Amino acid sequence: MIKNQDNNQNIVTRLLDNEPVGMTVQVVRVMGDGAFRQRLLEMGFVRGALVTVLKNAPLKDPVEYMILGSHISLRHSEAAQVEVTDKEAEFCDMEDAFNGIVETTVAGVDPMADDVLRIALIGNPNCGKTSLFNSVTGAKEKVGNYGGVTVDSKEGWFNIGGRKVQLVDLPGTYSLTEYSPEEMYVRTYIRDNHPDAILNIVDAGNLERNLYLTTQIMDMNIPMVIALNMWDELEKSGDQLDIEMMSRLLGARMVPVTAYNGHGVKDVLEAAMAAIDESEQETLHHNVNYGTLIEDCLKELGEMCPELDRYTVLKIIENDQHAIQLIEGKENAEDVKKTAAEMRQRIERDFNDDITSIVTDLKYGFVRGALAEALTPNPERTTGETKPGYSMDRLLTNRWLALPILLVLMWLMFEATFTLGAYPQGWIESGIGWIGEWIGNAMPDGILRDLIVDGIIGGVGGVLVFLPQILILFFFISLLEDSGYMARAAFIVDRVMHRVGLHGKSFIPYLIGFGCGVPAIMATRTLENRRDRLVTILTVPFMSCSARLPAYLLLVAAFFTANQGLILMSIYLIGILVAAITAIIMSKTFLKHDKTQFVMELPPYRKPTARNATIHMWSKGKQYLQKMATIILAASIIVWALGYFPRHEGQTPQEQIENSYMGQMGKAIEPIVEPLGFNWQMGVSVLTGAAAKEIVVSTMGVLYTGEADADEESTTLKEKLQTATKPNGEHVFNPIIAYSFMLFILLYFPCIAALAAIKREAGWKWVAFEVVYTTAVAWLVSFVFYQIAIRL
Ligand code: GDP
Ligand code: MG
Repeated sequence: MIKNQDNNQNIVTRLLDNEPVGMTVQVVRVMGDGAFRQRLLEMGFVRGALVTVLKNAPLKDPVEYMILGSHISLRHSEAAQVEVTDKEAEFCDMEDAFNGIVETTVAGVDPMADDVLRIALIGNPNCGKTSLFNSVTGAKEKVGNYGGVTVDSKEGWFNIGGRKVQLVDLPGTYSLTEYSPEEMYVRTYIRDNHPDAILNIVDAGNLERNLYLTTQIMDMNIPMVIALNMWDELEKSGDQLDIEMMSRLLGARMVPVTAYNGHGVKDVLEAAMAAIDESEQETLHHNVNYGTLIEDCLKELGEMCPELDRYTVLKIIENDQHAIQLIEGKENAEDVKKTAAEMRQRIERDFNDDITSIVTDLKYGFVRGALAEALTPNPERTTGETKPGYSMDRLLTNRWLALPILLVLMWLMFEATFTLGAYPQGWIESGIGWIGEWIGNAMPDGILRDLIVDGIIGGVGGVLVFLPQILILFFFISLLEDSGYMARAAFIVDRVMHRVGLHGKSFIPYLIGFGCGVPAIMATRTLENRRDRLVTILTVPFMSCSARLPAYLLLVAAFFTANQGLILMSIYLIGILVAAITAIIMSKTFLKHDKTQFVMELPPYRKPTARNATIHMWSKGKQYLQKMATIILAASIIVWALGYFPRHEGQTPQEQIENSYMGQMGKAIEPIVEPLGFNWQMGVSVLTGAAAKEIVVSTMGVLYTGEADADEESTTLKEKLQTATKPNGEHVFNPIIAYSFMLFILLYFPCIAALAAIKREAGWKWVAFEVVYTTAVAWLVSFVFYQIAIRL
């Protein structure tokens, strides 16, 4: 077996972190704890694996490594957990870990027992699951060349041989441990839903790592077929795979597939159906042979819990808490746990290593052994050379060019979204205005007309104005993801985001947040880690969105004569600062990191397809309209009604809003905003800004000029603000009050549409948190500023 431990003492080990770029070394062991260590092991950092240091990110951290032919980014702090040695050092004999297979007899099942035929799609992130799913079901599902795009499962149906079959797209995982929500999701799904077959998709160009997951599925003893996806890429690479032999070894049919053009898809489905039909009779399953000691343990423990499959039994020996929970409550539970613990000790003593690495090593040993027999690499390719599909990295992650290129691309995306988007937005606004006018003229005066014209049509307009931006933005995001650039963007800026406890991937939502919080919050879906997603969602609203700009422009123009640009910029910077501080506090307190998240794969660049981008764009647009429109519409009508009622005859618009419920609320909160230097009119403006931040300015227009259509360029409004006085003769505004007001507008609760987006991504609980937190921060910051400034 792995007879290296004694030799370990004789070799000189170093830390991967200290290795220079270009160096290839051999992994000795991974230090560190549970989740992080497990993730590294399953990414291929097992004993004897060769790692090449490819490059430092432009900001020096993280570092790109090549292992098992794929590119992985690790932070320095993580690489420091990997012990390595010279690549020539002979301290373990990997081929020895290959023991071939054992066979298990599995009783026949009736696939129609639950009235549905169900096939589950399982595979690594980026191996093409969603592409295959879309091609089979015709569903408009999101596809992305970026880990974790599929975060929950999607179901679709297809017909084959007159039978209706359900296909389920599960989240991409590298493994099936207990450490990540995605992996637990897949595990639980298989246990609770008993798919009749598993369609395991693997990236044919990256078999060593992809088949690691396959070894775990093999142990579940469910009929399995393997789709060798990206077959087009394998053929191009010149590698030869003996599919026959590989299928025989794994005991599962393998079918070459090119998912994005549908090649081979029908064959693989037919193979899956055949596997389901065979499973009605007793069948023989192939399992990884872990060697005599572990096999004996598996047999003994398996007999103690006959209802569990081999996968779960092995997990119990591995001390997997989730698997152990499954036996809790059984009469022999204590017995099983005790026996498993003894076995674990015996195995660890015998291999002189810990159980996690032993099992991972053995699985990788099996995969390696099988590939040694079935895969002939293209002899013209030298080992250690990067695979095709990475050449653009010379430019795109280049030390000097990476950041400028990133900024230009981001700027292009931003401009397209918010400048191009402004045209359809303008059309929608005029269309809505036109319809409102038309209905307004056609209906008699009265509450009903006002409700329809100002409340409902205004509210619908408030929903629709976001649609063009969402469509354009997600078209671009899809291109970035599909091409593989998104992972590079994260690689480039990770160092900066790391400072505040986040992953580089959060960068894109933050950037979008300067345009509009709604698509920004929707874009957090690209973060695979729920904690990161939550922190990003909750801090994105501090990025000053474009709807707040009119208010700043008005106030800056009215009260600052010098340094207007700097003053405006300071507001944006304070927003960023507050977001950063908030993210740090959250990461240190109630939203702590989990350590697996920073190991990121950099997939090869692939040509994005217009079809995928369009599918993605429409599905996001649909999601927005379906999931958020009702909340936004209802809330807009409520805000309208608060400013409209109660009615009194013959009031000016100014008196109307002053006497409305909104005005009364503004007056009621006056004592709270007074320490910030605000009067009730400002309080009211802030409250109406809930519907949309642009409304802050129009409300001030009504309150100070009596005109309903004042905007930030309106000189009368500017003058009115400059000359407005309080009852005691003091000016309502001065530069200090204006700045304090800008700070408040920057930081206080997000508009209804953004809150609807938060509700959709995180739930009501976090909406409530966000409203309270942001408003408290806004109050505090304005208060501190105002109280200090007036004393200077
Ligand atoms: P998932 O993360 O497993 O759902 O993978 P996706 O379906 O999102 O695909 C990831 C990337 O691989 C996308 O850019 C696809 O266009 C691309 N892709 C999918 N299947 C194939 C294939 O058979 N050949 C090639 N060359 N690319 C593919
Ligand atoms: Mg997917």
